Amino acid sequence: MSANLFAGGYKNQPYWWEAAPQPSLPPIAPPASCDVAVVGSGYTGLCAAIELARGGRHVVVLDAEDAGWGCSSRNGGQVSTSIKPAFDELAGHHGKEIAFGIRREGFNALQWIEDFIRAEKIECNWERVGRFHGAHNTAAFEKLAHDVTHQTRGLEVEAHVVAKNEQRSEIGTDRYFGGVVFPHHACLHPAKYHLGLLARARPRALSLSPAARCSRSLATAAPSSWPRRAAVCRPAR
Ligand SMILES: Cc1cc2nc3c(=O)[nH]c(=O)nc-3n(C[C@H](O)[C@H](O)[C@H](O)COP(=O)(O)OP(=O)(O)OC[C@H]3O[C@@H](n4cnc5c(N)ncnc54)[C@H](O)[C@@H]3O)c2cc1C
Repeated sequence: MSANLFAGGYKNQPYWWEAAPQPSLPPIAPPASCDVAVVGSGYTGLCAAIELARGGRHVVVLDAEDAGWGCSSRNGGQVSTSIKPAFDELAGHHGKEIAFGIRREGFNALQWIEDFIRAEKIECNWERVGRFHGAHNTAAFEKLAHDVTHQTRGLEVEAHVVAKNEQRSEIGTDRYFGGVVFPHHACLHPAKYHLGLLARARPRALSLSPAARCSRSLATAAPSSWPRRAAVCRPAR
């Protein structure tokens, strides 16, 4: 493959890291004992660790890479109410009641993260800017419009359909085939949010151990003094 594939100035890392320089923390040996070992220093692991540490537990966060190396510093920063997959697919796997509860969590999560960011004063450019889902063809537009007008009862999200000839007023382009606006969705700077979590996690009886790759049994990272069945919050990858 040609070396000229990439544009001049191409960098193999997110350009938004410039506004949120990524820390390279020195590896720390895991302590001889802990109440809970959390594997992964992304949003999931750090939120769990903060909560547990504030509840008085001695927590250790293990990560095979630098803190936040995974999705949590690289994502698009869009914050919505939606949890994938859609309700019907979830209901097929778990039944309607559980599916409803899972989707409901998405609603709660949007408000939760806003309250959390405000309470913790995390500077991460949080804004309720709304969101536009653009359709890449006519069929996609019809599906988007259908989904908005046939939402599951009790899980309705405020949204309005925007026809192709009106979308310029929303996003300043005619390229899409229309779309849907979700006025209450939000956005944030993903890496700044992660740094905010990291800053709140580190002072609280919490050791971060970069360069600790864990197997399912924690065999490679944990000191032999740790119980073999330590509670582990394992990230998806
Ligand atoms: C390109 C992209 C765009 C996205 N855009 C959005 C968006 O706009 N809105 C949204 O809500 N979501 C978005 N997401 C999804 C979102 O980023 C993730 O759901 C979220 O960051 C997951 O957080 P996490 O802590 O579970 O995982 P991660 O942030 O990936 O953290 C997992 C950590 O675990 C470590 N780890 C993994 N296995 C091991 C092991 N065996 N031993 C030790 N350490 C290990 C990794 O090194 C990593 O640091 C996007 C994702 C991607 C990739």
